[in-house]
Amino acid sequence: MLNLDKCEGLWLGKWRNRPDTPVQIKWTSGSIRLLGGVFGNIDMPLTNWKEGKRKFVETLQGWGARSLSFTGKVTVANSLATAKLWYLASVFTPPDSVMKEINTALFAFFWDKKREMISRNTIYLPPEKGGWGLIDIAKKAKCLYSRPFSDIMSQEDLPWVQLARYWLGIFIRRFDPSTWSNNMPHSPNAPPHYKALQSLVSELVEASPSKKWDPGCTTRSLYDSLLKKDAHIPSVCLNKRSVPWPLTFQSVQHPLLENRLKDTAWLVAHHALKTNALLCSNWGYIRSGTCPRQNCKGHETVEHAMWYCSEVLLTWTWVEGFLRRWVMSDFRINKQMVIYGILPPSWKKCKIDAITYTLAVARKRIWSSRCEALFDKTFSTHVEMVPYIKECLRSRIKLDFVRLNETTFMSLWCSVQWARVDGGKLRLRF
Ligand SMILES: [Zn+2]
Repeated sequence: MLNLDKCEGLWLGKWRNRPDTPVQIKWTSGSIRLLGGVFGNIDMPLTNWKEGKRKFVETLQGWGARSLSFTGKVTVANSLATAKLWYLASVFTPPDSVMKEINTALFAFFWDKKREMISRNTIYLPPEKGGWGLIDIAKKAKCLYSRPFSDIMSQEDLPWVQLARYWLGIFIRRFDPSTWSNNMPHSPNAPPHYKALQSLVSELVEASPSKKWDPGCTTRSLYDSLLKKDAHIPSVCLNKRSVPWPLTFQSVQHPLLENRLKDTAWLVAHHALKTNALLCSNWGYIRSGTCPRQNCKGHETVEHAMWYCSEVLLTWTWVEGFLRRWVMSDFRINKQMVIYGILPPSWKKCKIDAITYTLAVARKRIWSSRCEALFDKTFSTHVEMVPYIKECLRSRIKLDFVRLNETTFMSLWCSVQWARVDGGKLRLRF
């Protein structure tokens, strides 16, 4: 039994302007809401994507007030915010104007409404290639919209596939001639939905390695080929060719590092810290590129801020001595380690772990102290930075003692002699 009170009729096509009401239900020539979307005599992609964008932006704004790390932001964007868009993407292609607004909101969220420091196409790359794996929404939307094409090619028993083959018969014949039959009618002109599908499938085929439609392809594999096609090698990799980038990106994303440490390591490796030299010479925001630390007149590039500045060098000298005493007696620190986190892969894993973590903590403290010097006019000397670095290491070891099982804890921290466990109690050596 139909509940006529809940039924709604929509006049379409040539009947769009009919004023009569043949059955006792509500009739409209405008639009109706169906399964979460709006359908009718309107610009459906624009109307639906505008609503999707509103929900997407609301989700980002809800999280924007919290101070999230890049990892946190990527999780919110990839898992929560974009979830409001995927059901639309499989039905309507996003209008360019809405996609532009979506990306503007997404990157404003990623960079805390501040200037974007690194190319968007780099941030879409996976972490091992220098990005964060942020989803490229336009590309993912294309893949979702094209998903039914696999069924059209292979599932001829499905009733709707016959209709799709009527519209697309001539187009799909080039991928698989066996889908063509002279006994079946085919239209020479496809309606807008199928026209959009044709052009997207052509684009996806062009991006695929074999330049053919792969019958076993998934949304993921299509997305990966599209991403590869437009992959943007990070500009820092092009400018500094001699740096071993796979090792650098491994070190930036070292599993031992907390999210905030990864953020600083990533920005430093990409030379994307907002140093005075960058603000002055590249963008003309400020007049002088001089280092903000007390009694330093150096030109503040990333290398100066993280390595050459005198107070910073003294801090690294302490770090070197500390690591020599507790981790590796012949350890020598250098600029490559500090900027890119590069350590010889032949070193023992436990030593690489401990050194990578110490360098990351010191790197973050050095950059924080530089920002305090600039914004708060408080100037930390290396003598003040050292206890903070030590305290960060101690806190991490204490936390791991509680949260890890004894074997994992011992292999992580006791093999480098920073800690020992005595009768179930933790004893720190420094
Ligand atoms: Zn300086």
